[in-house]
Amino acid sequence: MKLILLGPPGAGKGTQAERISARYSIPHISTGDIFRENLKEGTELGLKAREYMDRGELVPDGLVIDIVRDRLEKPDCRDGFILDGFPRTVAQADALKDILAAMGIPLDHVLNIKVPRDVVVKRLTARRTCRSCGSIYHLIYDPPEEEGVCDDCGGELYRRDDDSEETVLARMDEYEEKTQPLIDYYRDEGLLRDINGSVEPGEVFEAIRTIIEA
Ligand code: AMP
Repeated sequence: MKLILLGPPGAGKGTQAERISARYSIPHISTGDIFRENLKEGTELGLKAREYMDRGELVPDGLVIDIVRDRLEKPDCRDGFILDGFPRTVAQADALKDILAAMGIPLDHVLNIKVPRDVVVKRLTARRTCRSCGSIYHLIYDPPEEEGVCDDCGGELYRRDDDSEETVLARMDEYEEKTQPLIDYYRDEGLLRDINGSVEPGEVFEAIRTIIEA
C-alpha cells in the first residue's frame, strides 16, 4: 500500500496519516515532522529548514528530496508507506517518480483531502500539538481533557510557530501556487482520489478506507 496524502495545510493530513499508519501497519513519513525533529535536536538541516518554515514558505526542493529518498530506501517501506506533506512541488513529484521507478515500486493512490480556505485558517490557528508525541488537538472541536496537557502521553501542548494567522495565510499561498498543480499531475496519471475533508475525522477516515480497500 503506497499512498500519498495531498491537501492544504490543515486539511487533516497528519491526523489521517496516523490512522492509516496504525490500521495498515505502514510507516507514516511526514517531511514536516522530520524538519521539526531536526530543529528540536538543533541539527544543521533543522536550522536551515527553520528559516523557511517560520515564514510559511516551502523548504527548497534540494533539502527535501534526499531526505525522502533515504527514508523510502529503509526496509520498513518495502510493503508500503504513507507520505504526508511530500511531494509539495512538481519537481518533488518528478523526483519521487524516479526514486520509486528505481526501486520498482508503483504508487497505489494519491488521496486529495479537500477543505475550503476559510475552514483551514480557523482550524490551524486553534490547533495545538503535543511536543512529545505529536498528537493533534483543536481548542474548540477536539480539546484535551486538561488544558495544555496531552491526553495520550501527558506531554506539553503548544501552538506550532507556523500556526499563527499570518504564517498560515503565507502557507496557503505557497500551497495554491506550488502544490495545487500536483492535483492535475496525479489526475493525469489516474492516481487521484478526491476526499471531502470538511467532515469529522472519523468520517474522512471511512472514506479513505473505502478507497483503499476497494
Ligand atoms: P507540515 O508539517 O507538512 O505542515 O510542514 C511544515 C513546514 O515544513 C512547511 O510549511 C514547509 O516549510 C516545510 N515542509 C514540509 N514538507 C515540505 C516539502 N515536501 N517541501 C518543502 N517544504 C516542506
